[in-house]
Amino acid sequence: MDLGITGRVAIVAAASKGLGRAVAEELAREGAHVAICARTPATLAETAAHIRKSTGREVFHQALDVTDSARVASFVSAVEARFGRLDICVTNSGGPPSNSFESTKPEDWGSAVDQLLMSTVFFARETLPHMRKNKWGRLITITSSAVKQPVDGLLLSNSVRAAVTGLARTLANEYAADGITVNNVCPGYTRTARLDGLAATISARSGSRPEEVFAGWEREIPARRLGTPAEFAAVVAFLASERASYVTGTSIAVDGGLVRSLL
Ligand code: NAP
Repeated sequence: MDLGITGRVAIVAAASKGLGRAVAEELAREGAHVAICARTPATLAETAAHIRKSTGREVFHQALDVTDSARVASFVSAVEARFGRLDICVTNSGGPPSNSFESTKPEDWGSAVDQLLMSTVFFARETLPHMRKNKWGRLITITSSAVKQPVDGLLLSNSVRAAVTGLARTLANEYAADGITVNNVCPGYTRTARLDGLAATISARSGSRPEEVFAGWEREIPARRLGTPAEFAAVVAFLASERASYVTGTSIAVDGGLVRSLL
């Protein structure tokens, strides 16, 4: 299938590693020009160089924290200035720490809201006007299977990502008539640095070895294995494409069957 995004310009936030990086690479492979950001300049530059080399597409990169609204605004302006247009925005950030309710401090709640919800608001505010002007756009949020079925121990993620889902669903309604689709993509257990970190935290807390933590997750998943970033990225690329023009307001799990709900 030709996804029809050759020459489109895509921002992928928090994309020097893991899911964001895989999405940026997949979009570039499909012919889009991509712009990526993350906080650590060296890793970001390395990823940009890798994608440029592996796909032959232009890759713009800028180091920033997605919780900083002014930096997000200047990044989006720089992308527009660089490529002359903006068509696709994939929002993403790091995940909040795993903790019980009792050990979560009030300020941890504020940080999770900044990291997950406000970063999405900042990118949506800056990119949707460009898409509306062109009467074409794709806003895709990377959330978690936790929005469909809360994950034990991920209190902050379970709580705050629900707000991101509500935001996206509302934006889908407000922007559909302008040719803009808004969708959430919800990863289940996917092998990245974030998942290695989570396994290490659970291992330290429970005394089981990290391999046992991974094996426990694999038993929970009907596919009996973790997902790969590339499998996740393929779904995002489809939603970003011309072909997905009538798909909006959805939350699609890419989780090997982990979420047991009917819808
Ligand atoms: P990852 O491998 O840890 O990668 C996170 C990326 O985000 C890195 O490039 C990191 O670079 C960047 N980043 C983190 N905080 C940032 C910030 N404040 N501003 C800008 N960039 C930032 O994580 P991942 O597994 O790809 O996960 C991505 C998202 O999906 C997370 O929210 C995670 O909780 C969620 N998720 C993941 C899974 C999974 O199984 N992997 C499952 C469900 C949900 P810098 O550190 O240099 O900034």
